[in-house]
Amino acid sequence: MGGCHSYPSASEADDTTLRPSDISNNKLGINNNNLDERPYLQPQYVCQKIPTTDMHALTALPPGVDQSEWLASNTVAFFKHINLFSSALSEFCTPSTCPTACGPGNTVYTWTDEQGRKLKCSAPLYSDYAMSYIQDLLTDEEVFPTKAGSAFPNGFIFLVQKVFLLLFRTLAHIYWSHYQETLVLGLQPHLNTLFTHLTVFSLQHGLLDPEDTQPMQDLISALGQGQNIGNS
Ligand SMILES: [Zn+2]
Repeated sequence: MGGCHSYPSASEADDTTLRPSDISNNKLGINNNNLDERPYLQPQYVCQKIPTTDMHALTALPPGVDQSEWLASNTVAFFKHINLFSSALSEFCTPSTCPTACGPGNTVYTWTDEQGRKLKCSAPLYSDYAMSYIQDLLTDEEVFPTKAGSAFPNGFIFLVQKVFLLLFRTLAHIYWSHYQETLVLGLQPHLNTLFTHLTVFSLQHGLLDPEDTQPMQDLISALGQGQNIGNS
């Protein structure tokens, strides 16, 4: 069964691994919208994940743990990881390479400001808005209390859902527009693992609507996740 490597070492790449010199201007393109193919669905990449434990067991609410605390601690952890990945690829995501915040197919994400106005903006600007919004929320003691015994606010789940939607879109944009750069960096096993973890956690705790995950459903299925969750 060739082609499917076990990591830890992301340097165990085969001959198909891209090198930095392979990132030519024509490959970067504008949003890669002209590319119909989805390289992240190719079997040799889909199977590259960090060996891990049972994701469903990992994401389920552990016995004796408060559900809001579990959601809050995972929200913080996912934000830190995804922000880090986004930063690692930020030099490739500019207003000229990504004039719109796009995802697979014709998906274009618009930012809704505090006045409810929808703003079409570049992907890096959307990412700035999203990460700043999440950062502000996570550091708001009224929303994510850190003191023992503090109560979570009413509607906490809706804020968590919004954070997960923004994090999901961030990964969708990376897969859609920056997968070649992800391959060059050797980041794809980590990306697949993080995406799987986020998706399984979201499904298990009802954080994302099927309508929002639909543009990435082909990858979710290819990664073999999302089964049996709806029945559990
Ligand atoms: Zn971009």
